[in-house]
Amino acid sequence: MTASNIAVVHAESGLITAEVVVASRISPSFVRLTVAGDDLSRWRHLGFDQWFRLAIPVAGDSTRFDRMADRFDTRGYLRYLTLPKATRPEIRNYTVREFRPDLHELDIDFVMHESEDPAHAGVAAPWAASMPVGARVALIDQGCGYRAVADADQVVLAGDESALPAVIGILRDLPRSARGHAVIEIPQDEDRQPIDAPAGVDVQWIVREHGARPGAAALHALRELPEAATSGPVSAFVAGEQQLATGGRRLLVNDRGVAKHAVDFCGYWRER
Ligand SMILES: Cc1cc2nc3c(=O)[nH]c(=O)nc-3n(C[C@H](O)[C@H](O)[C@H](O)COP(=O)(O)OP(=O)(O)OC[C@H]3O[C@@H](n4cnc5c(N)ncnc54)[C@H](O)[C@@H]3O)c2cc1C
Repeated sequence: MTASNIAVVHAESGLITAEVVVASRISPSFVRLTVAGDDLSRWRHLGFDQWFRLAIPVAGDSTRFDRMADRFDTRGYLRYLTLPKATRPEIRNYTVREFRPDLHELDIDFVMHESEDPAHAGVAAPWAASMPVGARVALIDQGCGYRAVADADQVVLAGDESALPAVIGILRDLPRSARGHAVIEIPQDEDRQPIDAPAGVDVQWIVREHGARPGAAALHALRELPEAATSGPVSAFVAGEQQLATGGRRLLVNDRGVAKHAVDFCGYWRER
């Protein structure tokens, strides 16, 4: 996580282990993994943009989750750092795409970012791309970043593909009476996903031009929103590449006069 004003909520669920039971390339830029297991009966499901720390088994079957703390606060992180590198998992942040409590199953959508430089290949994306069915993982719930403003007249949501699960989750869980605008930037048209949004929320998909900086088109679309979209009390969420998150917040607060506390923003990753 880079720049952000979201509060980390250290959850009650503790450390949850699960197994990857399904892996599929759902679109050109996304792999969906379904993880399942009895431990997920303890998952405290909040919906919206609920996110978690995902412990990825980079040491294969030798990866040990048992000595990890059940919270990823400062103490939990320091404890993690003391674990032997040869057997400790790598940690990355992901969003609950869908949770099915009856089946103890949870879906995660991974962006397939690629780099010609092996130093920037990453851990989570190539691991998910390997379709790791049968692998064991661990999850530590971190709660929601989006705090709906109770008396808001409208919502404004914006994200790039890394925040697609978050924006879709918020749209799915907002009251059906909600009104407003959502902007989702994706690398390719085929990356669109079905959305269950309130009828009063206008959802704008933007396909990024090849070679353009991720997040720039979503930021432009935010700037182009009609004045009426941000007049009156607004509840906003902006996430994705760092400059989209910070630029979106600046735009809404400085140019549109949205109250600071009404804009939840989070840099999900940083373009290098
Ligand atoms: C609260 C929260 C929720 C998130 N939810 C999701 C989610 O549901 N799905 C999802 O895919 N991501 C999500 N992210 C973003 C994800 O954590 C990062 O993209 C993460 O860096 C991926 O780890 P990695 O091991 O693949 O790459 P890293 O090892 O972290 O980075 C390697 C290189 O890849 C680049 N990179 C990282 N992510 C991207 C990207 N998306 N596009 C292009 N280049 C990239 C980096 O700049 C770096 O150069 C979330 C982040 C946060 C903070």
